[in-house]
This record gives sequence, structure tokens and C-alpha cells, in this order.
Amino acid sequence: MWLVTGGAGFIGSHVVQAALHAGHRVRVLDDLSTGDPRRLSREVELVRGDAADADVARRAAAGAEVVVHLAAHRAVPRSVDDPLATDRANTHGTLAVLEAARAGGARRVVLASSSSVYGSAAALPTPETAEPRPASPYAVSKLAGEHYARVHAELFGLSTVSLRLFNAYGPGQSPEGPYAQLVPRVLDALRRGDRPVVFGDGTQSRDLVYVGDVARAVLAAAATDAVGVVNIGSGRATSVLDVIAAATRAMGVRGEPHFLPARPGDVPHTCADPRRAAALLGWRATVPLEEGLRRTARAPVVAAA
Ligand code: NAD
Repeated sequence: MWLVTGGAGFIGSHVVQAALHAGHRVRVLDDLSTGDPRRLSREVELVRGDAADADVARRAAAGAEVVVHLAAHRAVPRSVDDPLATDRANTHGTLAVLEAARAGGARRVVLASSSSVYGSAAALPTPETAEPRPASPYAVSKLAGEHYARVHAELFGLSTVSLRLFNAYGPGQSPEGPYAQLVPRVLDALRRGDRPVVFGDGTQSRDLVYVGDVARAVLAAAATDAVGVVNIGSGRATSVLDVIAAATRAMGVRGEPHFLPARPGDVPHTCADPRRAAALLGWRATVPLEEGLRRTARAPVVAAA
């Protein structure tokens, strides 16, 4: 049985589907703070609760062979608004899930870390050996989670790997709320005939990776015994203005950006060096941006925050 924390979330629901498809039984631990149970099919066992609560995490991890830990407060600006809440959910939550996995005798633990740990990385594309310079409470919490995972491997022999996910996008990502991500915000604005909002001048760039590719990476990581940190990105950076241009082409519409001031904590550029993922996991991103945007634009919009 697999435990997927945060399985009712955007990435989590794709991981759950992929795990079911591969023949695994799946239990989800999710507090439904940004998740939506309608993303989960009937055969999934949903435990509604807080992953940072040690007892809840322990009960959820009992009997799990593989633990995929995705539950987190995801947004950088949310962490700037409320650092303590993000730290509790992410840093403490990760420690609680690692302890629960250890107590339950899990064979493998796959954690979602983030490209944000690099901050304004000196080298682009950024290899895993680059010195982390987290620029937000969110990024600090993700880096702390990686260290807890490494320490659990070294001290307790728990098989852990931390995937530094770059910017995931795809069907099921909500455009709503103040912390919505770039791609769903842009697609939603274009759908409504509005001008997509750009924070800053739009030259900042992101390594966008299709969520189906991310789910494949999680399954690949669960199937190996690779340890440490692994970038999960496409290896290509696209500027925010180019994302908007690609989205207008994918949707066959026009849309001029609406510029607002840059947000604190956002980093100027992200781009993965994807070679370690290829070497250790046999994984690389396969869905090109315009194809991914077309698939996303065609999919139903979800209402969850
Ligand atoms: P999401 O908000 O859609 O999913 C997070 C899920 O975790 C939600 O279902 C939420 O209800 C649940 N959750 C939050 N706090 C919880 C808690 N304390 N206990 C139990 N459940 C809790 O976000 P997502 O984009 O699917 O992100 C999934 C993971 O991937 C997160 O760890 C995030 O930090 C990481 N990540 C995402 C991206 C991205 O581009 N989306 C990039 C880098 C890393």
C-alpha cells in the first residue's frame, strides 16, 4: 500500500492516479486545506487530517510500503504572509511524516522539495551541487525537509529521496485564490477575455514541467534506491511573457499582459540541470510546453483553492 500525503492536491491527485494505474493500493492523508476530495477516485482511502500531527501521520503511515510526502503549504507568497503556519505544515509536517514512515517500516520515502531552495542561483541551468540560498520562508521549510530526510537516511537507514520540483503545471491546477500559480492564472484570464497579470516586467523565467511528467518522476523515484536530492525539471527556462505568448497560441486567442509590481520572495530565474534525474531515475521531461498548455486548456477547471 502507498501513502500519498497531500494526495487531494494538484500534483498529489496525478501521483495517486499514476500509482493506481501501476497497480498499487493508495491511501491519502490530506487536511483538504487546498485539496479537493473530488480529485480522488472511489478506490482511494482518504484520511482527512493534519500531516504535522504526529499521531495522525503515524496512523496514516501504518502498513505503507511507500510514502510519498506532498502535503505542504505550497505558495511562496503565502509563506511570506504567514511564515509560522508554513513552517509548521512543511518543516514540522515533513519531520512527522518521516517519523511515521520510520515507525511503520516503510521501504521508501519520496519527498516533494522545491527548486525554490536554490533562490537566485548563480548557475543556470542549476545542478544539485549548487549552494542553496532560499529566499522565502517556504524555501527554507523545503530545505529543512530535505535535511530531515537525509538525516533519517543516515541515522535510521530510512530510504529517502527529495525531489526538487520545478514549476509544475497541468490539468487540475486551480486558478483561484491569491496564491494561484502562473499557468492556471494565465489560462483563466485568457479564457475570460481578461489581460493576464504579470508581477514584475515578465522577463523572469521558469522551468515549467508538465504534471504528468512529475507523477512519472515520483513513481521512478519510488522504484529506485537513489538518495539525496534530484532536480525534476525540463532543463528549459521560459520567460513569463513567453508563457503568455505560448498560451495565447495554444488557445488561439489574443491577450496583452497587465503588469503589476514584483512580489517579494519570488526569484528571477529557475532552470533545472536535469542530468542527475536522467542518470539516477532514468527520467526526463517529455511533454513540450505548448502541448502541455493545450492539454491543460482543454481540461476542466477545478474550483479548489
Ligand atoms: P496543492 O496545494 O495543490 O497540494 C498540497 C496538498 O496538501 C493539498 O491537497 C492540501 O490540502 C494538503 N495539505 C496542506 N497542508 C497539509 C497538512 N498540514 N496536512 C495534510 N494535508 C495538507 O499543491 P501542489 O502544487 O500539488 O504541491 C504538492 C507538493 O509539491 C508540495 O509539497 C509543494 O511544496 C511541492 N511543489 C510544488 C510545485 C508546483 O509547481 N506546484 C513546485 C515545487 C514543489
